[in-house]
Amino acid sequence: MQAETYPFVVRPLPYEYDELMPVLNEETLHFHHDKHYKTYVDNLNNLLSDYPELQQMSLKELLSNLEDLPVNARGGIRNNGGGVYNHELYFDSMKGAAGQEPTGELMEAIKRDFGSFRQWKEQMKQAAVTKFGSGWAWLLSDREGKLSVVQTANQDVPDFGLYTPILLVDVWEHAYYLQYQNRRADYAEAWFDLINWRKAARRYEER
Ligand code: MN
Repeated sequence: MQAETYPFVVRPLPYEYDELMPVLNEETLHFHHDKHYKTYVDNLNNLLSDYPELQQMSLKELLSNLEDLPVNARGGIRNNGGGVYNHELYFDSMKGAAGQEPTGELMEAIKRDFGSFRQWKEQMKQAAVTKFGSGWAWLLSDREGKLSVVQTANQDVPDFGLYTPILLVDVWEHAYYLQYQNRRADYAEAWFDLINWRKAARRYEER
């Protein structure tokens, strides 16, 4: 992912809009992907159009070097570039087939670092439910393969120098409000059924 540079393009969903039913319905995905995510792409491109010197940088490079960017571009790239990165990974982390569990090296690491798959789920759900305001809950791996669950605010991303993202769940209200209204915990619980563990395992192995 994120190999390309400005102008960034809206990536199509890697599944049909009705494929994540009933956890996420078509209306939710159309608003989330076609409106919210697209707006981050458009805003990032608009901002970068004024900074030719940044147009050869990948999304990850931009987000990893915020302190070195022009001060007037920094906040916009943090919010909109993060919005692009986070949504692309979120949409790419899901698929429509319920009740899967990880296998192989990733499952072994989950058991080692959280005690059991169930305990990891508890911790991940807790992170999703308790994130105050808008943000994300992540499963990250460090360079040695040690896993951790963390929260980020708004569209902030983890430190890519230290961590490889394995999974993330969007807990902005726009991710669930059309279907779940204020019931964030129900959305977070249902989200586990959508995880694409094959892709998660690959991210872990390629960290
Ligand atoms: Mn979102």
